[in-house]
Amino acid sequence: MAKIKTVKDVNLAGKRVFVRVDYNVPFDEKGNVSDDTRIAASLPTLRYLIEQGAKVILASHLGRPKGQVNPKYSLKPVVPVLSNLLGKPVAFAEDCVGPKAEEAVAAMKDGDVLLLENVRFHPEEEKNDPAFAAQMAKLADAFVNDAFGSAHRAHASTAGVAKDLPIRVAGFLIEKELKFLGEATANPQRPFVAILGGAKVSDKIMVIDSLLDKCDALIVGGAMAYTFFLAQGKPTGSSLTEPDKVDLAKKALAKAQEKGVQLLLPVDNVITDKVDFANAQVGEVKDAEVIPEGWQGVDIGPKSIALFSEEIAKAKTVLWNGPMGIFEIKACSKGTFSIAEAVAKNKDAISIIGGGDSVKAIKKSGYADQVSFISTGGGASLEFLEGKELPGVAVLQTV
Ligand code: AMP
Repeated sequence: MAKIKTVKDVNLAGKRVFVRVDYNVPFDEKGNVSDDTRIAASLPTLRYLIEQGAKVILASHLGRPKGQVNPKYSLKPVVPVLSNLLGKPVAFAEDCVGPKAEEAVAAMKDGDVLLLENVRFHPEEEKNDPAFAAQMAKLADAFVNDAFGSAHRAHASTAGVAKDLPIRVAGFLIEKELKFLGEATANPQRPFVAILGGAKVSDKIMVIDSLLDKCDALIVGGAMAYTFFLAQGKPTGSSLTEPDKVDLAKKALAKAQEKGVQLLLPVDNVITDKVDFANAQVGEVKDAEVIPEGWQGVDIGPKSIALFSEEIAKAKTVLWNGPMGIFEIKACSKGTFSIAEAVAKNKDAISIIGGGDSVKAIKKSGYADQVSFISTGGGASLEFLEGKELPGVAVLQTV
């Protein structure tokens, strides 16, 4: 993969820089930002641009306003939070294109920061409308993409805007994502152990295929494992399975064998006779090697935890995406949290948490600060690991 240029490779002094950030943050019932993690994560890039004397124009989406102006999805409440974190004033433009945005940009001095209103207030954003993208591009001399979580979408603010701008580079967040997800998995320190879990094989079959070309061992847990059980002719009771994906699971098993990749499936399971998602409750719970009729696999069992943990302990590179069970319910969470512990405890390995629910799980387990890298993009990290080109990265210049 060609190396992408970053903000450090270009001169941005005095330039108007359109920075695509990810400020898709949660709010409390009073309308205040309830978790500023994503805003804080953008600070290194913003501080660098301010130091360089750039005019920093920030654009982001927030929620799904469906192309309509809706105050509920306004980015305005981000202004005081960002201003506080940066220790300097942040201006706000009530639109991301047109006279309001243009006037706000014209008033900027070098080192100033301006936040534009939610790009998704315009239906043209998600359609990647060229005229709309050109209106955004008109505001700036350069494009910096630092929103990895949106980089798999070809939208106007993530890709289209860059088309006519001569400078198109990555911010520090995207640089870090590409370093860990890209370099660490393309040229991994071996053994490279990949752990996949979650609900569906269909969401991750491409990733399975791509990882089987790279890893030394592939651990499969979560409901996904039960489609593999079907492929092996094992009973799955009423577990969540995808019978129409059994052929794909068979192909993956054959590929693993052909490539000499160890494919590890659960050897025992936590099973229950009832799952009540709405009330986060389960019925009777027990450990079983075979899932009987009327019972459902909801987590990996103790022997599987030991087997998987032993494999993880030997790794020099670990990539984890997807929980081992219904970790949202306490009675089905031990497998996922034990795997989080095993990943965190291997201090000799580069450990990468690949976005989505595994990020929630590692945070909930208390081991988040003991892994090498946590990806900020669920869908984006999966598409990247599948080997797909991300539109928001493809538009950036290479060294
Ligand atoms: P994904 O988005 O594919 O990573 O799937 C995450 C979801 O998979 C979580 O909400 C888990 O509750 C769910 N999940 C994991 N294991 C199981 C299982 N054995 N049965 C049902 N759902 C599961």
